[in-house]
Amino acid sequence: MNEDELKAKSSIAPLGGAQALHALIDTVPDAMIVIDDSARILSFSKGAEQVFGFAESEVLGENVSLLMPSPDRERHDNYLRHYLDTGEKRVIGIGRVTTARHRDGSTFPVDLSVGEFMMGGLRVFAGFIRDLTETRETERKLHNLQAELAHVSRISSMGALATSIAHELNQPLTAVANYAQSARGLLDDPDSIDLALVCEALDECGKEALRAGQIVQRLRSFISRGDSVRQISSLQRLAKEATALALINGDSRGVDFASKLDADHDWVLVDQVQIQQVLVNLIRNALEAMEQSTVKKLLITSEPAKDRMVQITVSDSGSGLEPHIAERLFHPFMSTKPSGMGLGLSICHTIISSHGGRIWVEPSELGGTSFNFTLLEANTEEKNG
Ligand code: ADP
Repeated sequence: MNEDELKAKSSIAPLGGAQALHALIDTVPDAMIVIDDSARILSFSKGAEQVFGFAESEVLGENVSLLMPSPDRERHDNYLRHYLDTGEKRVIGIGRVTTARHRDGSTFPVDLSVGEFMMGGLRVFAGFIRDLTETRETERKLHNLQAELAHVSRISSMGALATSIAHELNQPLTAVANYAQSARGLLDDPDSIDLALVCEALDECGKEALRAGQIVQRLRSFISRGDSVRQISSLQRLAKEATALALINGDSRGVDFASKLDADHDWVLVDQVQIQQVLVNLIRNALEAMEQSTVKKLLITSEPAKDRMVQITVSDSGSGLEPHIAERLFHPFMSTKPSGMGLGLSICHTIISSHGGRIWVEPSELGGTSFNFTLLEANTEEKNG
């Protein structure tokens, strides 16, 4: 090939290459999005159209942040600029589970991986996005997280928990009934009452009833796991993972989800699994409270509180608290749901108290309920050390 032929070939190669590339990526079922170094969308695959509900023609040239919920939506330009300035990789080359935003405003969990390459002399980024909502991949991708959170799913499978409680309680409750019956039998014949025996039967009755109470107590501490391991952890990360988990298992259709977590007060000293469990419980309750609402808004915020604490708030635009339940909200077995066990909030209370924090509820500006809790902020020196 002579020099002229080479020149001619190289001048058409990028266009031909880009077209061929587009045709190729359209065959891939996952969503693939190519952006330039100003985050403008250059290419939006057929898979992306399906996952996000936008046609390619609608989003070409738009900022890719339109496909993200807050706070990533507002921060994405900074993330990209930070990478271009420093070369420090936070997402590029590192797959991660995060939350994306559909055209209809609802959010859903995705697995995102981003690669970088040159196209036609331009520096571009390609994002591969897999919708985790219904794929069989979900289990594999979230395997590690779910293994850690196995006890969360134990709580969520209320049926299984109810069966195990019923099974454990059956023995002492049967004994209570038997002792009560024999005491009743002893009292049948007033002429030959053996008071000592009656007293013994009633004593046993009382003991078995206490045993039933202890079983419930044991079950609660089992669920909230006594063997707590405290680590310095990022609230932003905990919230992100808990949200992805709660959205996968709950009904999040049409829910506008946003989080505003204070990056300057991000580090807390906690048992990560337990705090994720609290967040998952609160988010699930919020989703359930909004099932019948026309406006479905879920907001997670954090802000510094006094005594070196951080306050985390999960707010919803749901039905609000039913008045009769408000007073004993954090007590076990308080539920207004047909299949609810009423254990979620009592477990949250146990966990937050064991972390030295406080949990309380108030009406939300979004129209529903706000659950607040506090955690001790970690010493940044400990983090660095
Ligand atoms: P469960 O969800 O099994 O009922 P919980 O302890 O998690 O148990 O919640 C207890 C009760 O508190 C619920 O049945 C519901 O009435 C009320 N509740 C909890 N979260 C909310 C919320 N975000 N909005 C309105 N009511 C709520």
